Amino acid sequence: MHPRDQTIFALSSGRPPSAIAIIRVSGPMAESVVLALAGKIPVPRMAIRALLRDSDRQPIDDAVVLWFPGPASATGEDVAEFHVHGGRAVLAAMLSALDAFENVRAAEPGEFTRRAFENGKLDLTEAEALDDLIHADTDRQRRQALRQLKGLLGDRARDWRERIIAASALIEAGIDFSDEGDVPAELIAPALARIKSLHDEIQKALAAQGQSERLRDGLVVAIAGPPNVGKSTLINQLARREVAIVSPHAGTTRDVIEVQLDLDGYPVTVIDTAGIRETDDPVEQEGVRRARARAAEADLVLWLADREDGSAVHQGAAPVWLVHNKIDLDAGGPTEQGEGGVRPEFRISAARGDGLSELIRALVDFAQEYFGTSDGALIGRARQRKLLQETVESLSRCMQVVGQGEELAAEELRRAAHSLGRLLGRVDVEDILDVIFREFCVGK
Ligand code: GDP
Repeated sequence: MHPRDQTIFALSSGRPPSAIAIIRVSGPMAESVVLALAGKIPVPRMAIRALLRDSDRQPIDDAVVLWFPGPASATGEDVAEFHVHGGRAVLAAMLSALDAFENVRAAEPGEFTRRAFENGKLDLTEAEALDDLIHADTDRQRRQALRQLKGLLGDRARDWRERIIAASALIEAGIDFSDEGDVPAELIAPALARIKSLHDEIQKALAAQGQSERLRDGLVVAIAGPPNVGKSTLINQLARREVAIVSPHAGTTRDVIEVQLDLDGYPVTVIDTAGIRETDDPVEQEGVRRARARAAEADLVLWLADREDGSAVHQGAAPVWLVHNKIDLDAGGPTEQGEGGVRPEFRISAARGDGLSELIRALVDFAQEYFGTSDGALIGRARQRKLLQETVESLSRCMQVVGQGEELAAEELRRAAHSLGRLLGRVDVEDILDVIFREFCVGK
């Protein structure tokens, strides 16, 4: 049996142990599985309580069971959900009981969503949004994913695609006429007007977006400067004040290299370049390697300086803010002007906390500018932006070549429609789908 026709199962809830764990089963065998384990089939979409038993009739757990016959289910196939106690042994017994059925196997990452996509329950932008929603750490990430999940981009793209196909029909009609002689200009003119307005609309949507697709990855801020100016002190202060999401790389002699902050809903990763140092520990080396690579691509650099070192200049592509630290030591000295004539943009005491609110406020403003006003954000991923750009380019080439022949124009319109089709996942090659769905969690 083809893997696609097999019935799949997975633990869809979080890591055990937990109070309750949810195991989902999807595919043609789901009904037999429920009958064998629970002894009965629940009324569709109504929870029942059942003692689940394995093939030797030995009890596994007292559970809640839900039955969603296809096609009105999340995947479009028959789906069952078992809500069991979330202990490791319970789950091990459940999973091995499921595995014992013929043509039933553990699901690959993202396989439930892939089936939903293949059964027309979601378009590709919605499938991507589902993944983004699961991985959203901040409120703005969540809101953007939810908008996408409602089909914000998918609906627009479908509309654009239909209008391109309609314009295409007008041009094709012109081509048919041209077999008989001249192409009537009255057929081309309305098609051109439609293409122009479509072009402008998509172009506008692209321009209005800022970097909203980068909301997934977050803004990267590197804290740099000479030794002992207080870089680590600052990163620790930021982590303490704002909602720190995770601190993935803990060194041995330093507390933190990198923290992820939730700044007013914007995901911001702050990297302490002082923590980036040579180490023999292989685990730490990997953290150091990653932090170094990310710092090199920082979107903003906070160059920390103290009184002796106000003039240091960081070279790089990203904007640099000069942050004058240890103002508590200044005792009213003439330090408004940094040495070498560089005016400090911020004056803080990382140790005491002075000036930190202003710095954080400025970071939030920077993030807002950087991501764009994401409340209308249409684009959630670089893939989507690229395909919309391709669509605009094809439409603009179409307008250029229409005078040279309708066939050329019609070809460009086909390309534009194809790009939007790929955006929606209507036309695409398997390997692209594989890449997208591989990023998903197992059980999703
Ligand atoms: P790094 O090498 O740049 O990471 O610097 P650290 O954060 O390790 O700080 C170096 C020293 O400066 C430590 O002894 C800190 O306690 C001290 N320090 C950091 N910030 C301040 C500050 O705002 N005021 C004062 N007085 N000392 C500070």
